[in-house]
Amino acid sequence: MYIRDIFAKKKWTLSFEFFPPKQDTDLEKLYETINELKELNPDYVSVTYGAGGSRRDKTVGLASHIKNEIGLETIAHLTCVNSTKEDIQGVIDSLRENNIQNILCLRGDPPAGEENFTKTIGGFGYASELTEFVRKSGDWCIGVAGYPEGHIEASSFEADLANLKNKVSKGADFIVTQMFFVNDKFYRYLDELAKLGIDKPVIPGIFPILNYKSVKRSAELSGATIPEKLVTVLEKYQDDSQAVAEIGIEYAINQCEDLIKSGRIRGLHLYSMNKSYATKKIYEAIKQYIPR
Ligand SMILES: Cc1cc2nc3c(=O)[nH]c(=O)nc-3n(C[C@H](O)[C@H](O)[C@H](O)COP(=O)(O)OP(=O)(O)OC[C@H]3O[C@@H](n4cnc5c(N)ncnc54)[C@H](O)[C@@H]3O)c2cc1C
Repeated sequence: MYIRDIFAKKKWTLSFEFFPPKQDTDLEKLYETINELKELNPDYVSVTYGAGGSRRDKTVGLASHIKNEIGLETIAHLTCVNSTKEDIQGVIDSLRENNIQNILCLRGDPPAGEENFTKTIGGFGYASELTEFVRKSGDWCIGVAGYPEGHIEASSFEADLANLKNKVSKGADFIVTQMFFVNDKFYRYLDELAKLGIDKPVIPGIFPILNYKSVKRSAELSGATIPEKLVTVLEKYQDDSQAVAEIGIEYAINQCEDLIKSGRIRGLHLYSMNKSYATKKIYEAIKQYIPR
């Protein structure tokens, strides 16, 4: 099913992100996790595309298993990294052969060890170009990435908003955001998108902090603000992984509750980190507020 049709039918959606594990031997464990999370009735789930584009078969394989064996609607991420148009056409063809109807079109991050993104000769330099290519390659539902605090490489917040508008004009059906920890920044983002006439669903991506060091690094790399108060508490407990996870989950629950109660969102996208515990705990705490 096209995710845009789910948005057309339902007021509100719940979705989770998974990534292909490094070792194929971890796939069975991941399938168990996904089957557990299936009980929460997500409307769809997403499967990331390995940084560097080197593991593209893993994305197609996992997305196909989730859609065709586990029976959940799936969106496969796709990036421009290290790929010519022909490579990308090959992935699109495999997705179609595997019954996948939804693609999240991304530029991608530079491969490990490289500082900047370099356009592959014969490939694409921006997600907007990939979006246009996928839109022309058949009937797909297309998602794109949005940045409530602006993309780290953008020349300005306004320039990044203009980029999102361009991605929508090239055919994006909905937007999933990068993680953020300050809801007011997200609400400001929605205001700015409304001023630009962007009326596609903007789904907040919520990342429960489970490991302080790794989230600190991701936040630095992506430019996501972690509020001082939260940093102070996390630093105090940084060597107690269970305490950090409890603090992170509690924070995510409060964030989700506030987002739902704002009445301004069409759904929540939870970064599961391939684990069920945090996602389940968040869901249990917020399900009473979810509009039905
Ligand atoms: C929901 C979500 C899922 C993600 N999943 C993955 C994944 O599976 N695999 C992965 O590798 N990465 C993933 N990423 C990370 C993403 O690839 C990076 O954030 C990447 O740096 C930018 O990708 P983009 O699609 O937003 O790029 P773009 O929209 O192309 O933007 C990249 C930068 O270029 C600027 N820009 C765009 N057009 C122009 C132009 N014409 N002139 C000048 N500047 C321009 C933008 O403002 C921005 O600064 C994900 C991000 C999000 C938010």
